[in-house]
Amino acid sequence: MKLKMVAVYLLVVGLSTAYAAEPTGSGIFLVIDAHAHIGGSFNFAQILKDMDKNGVSKQIVMARAYHGGDSDLPGNDQLALKLAETYPGRFYPLVGMQLPMLTGAHKWNTPDADVESLIRLTERKLASGKFFGIGEFIVRHWAYIPTWAHSAGDHAEQDNPIYSELMRRFSVLAAKYDVPILLHMEGYPALVEDFSRLLSENPGTRYVWAHNCGRSKAAVIRTMLSRHQNLFCDLGGMTSEWRGYGTGWPRKEEFTALIEQSGVLFPEMRSLYEEFPDRFMVGMDVAHAPAWKIYEGRVRRTREVLKQVSPETRAKMAEQNAIRIFKLSR
Ligand SMILES: [Zn+2]
Repeated sequence: MKLKMVAVYLLVVGLSTAYAAEPTGSGIFLVIDAHAHIGGSFNFAQILKDMDKNGVSKQIVMARAYHGGDSDLPGNDQLALKLAETYPGRFYPLVGMQLPMLTGAHKWNTPDADVESLIRLTERKLASGKFFGIGEFIVRHWAYIPTWAHSAGDHAEQDNPIYSELMRRFSVLAAKYDVPILLHMEGYPALVEDFSRLLSENPGTRYVWAHNCGRSKAAVIRTMLSRHQNLFCDLGGMTSEWRGYGTGWPRKEEFTALIEQSGVLFPEMRSLYEEFPDRFMVGMDVAHAPAWKIYEGRVRRTREVLKQVSPETRAKMAEQNAIRIFKLSR
């Protein structure tokens, strides 16, 4: 069994350069998980094993510093770096921004001493050359409580301003070090407008708007991508067979859209991906150690969805866009 898995991986890796994202006879092509997380309770060896088994070549990995309960301890950037150093070429850390200290509009509008020191520390980390972006910034987030940690409740409602001093400061930093900013923001119309201003004022900064651009409708995403060449989207957690953003969990609003049902891509989303093949990446977004068991199913479902776009678009969404947007080959 073990030998068979290794053989599948060698076959996939062996084909990686010449035939990136081209399906093999078994339908396996490599994907980059461009929206991954790490916390204190994650098992490094298990992550690598499941990536190899499922043809995931690399992860863009972000430390989640929120506490998730006894079986889901918080992580930090040192942990993400350790993962990257343990398995060279497989994990690309961002400077993590899922920080309890970044809660509340006042922190974003008028950075205090804590935020100022966070900005300085972020600059030092970027200057080290070991980080490939900044994020995930939690701008507008709907609360959920992990089922295994009813008492923890840290994954709370967040309502922070996107057009704010904090985002302007980090935007300048991201441009200076030529790395993207990754953010989570459910697509409230007023926030989309504010984001549009930030994008226009920072044309030299690349922004990755997670979860299919905040689970926005195709028309909204099309308008934003047409207007802003510096905007990109990841499909983090949008292909779900179990309780994920792609099922409308933990709630939906009138402006919320999904991308697929039962693994079948909605036609308006498929058209969007074909229209903007250079702007989308895939991601699994397993943020909690006790939920790791869903990883394999999510990769499988992501492959199903990718098979429904053209081979050129598939190759870009599966691997090439992530390599270019995060500059993984630098
Ligand atoms: Zn997110």
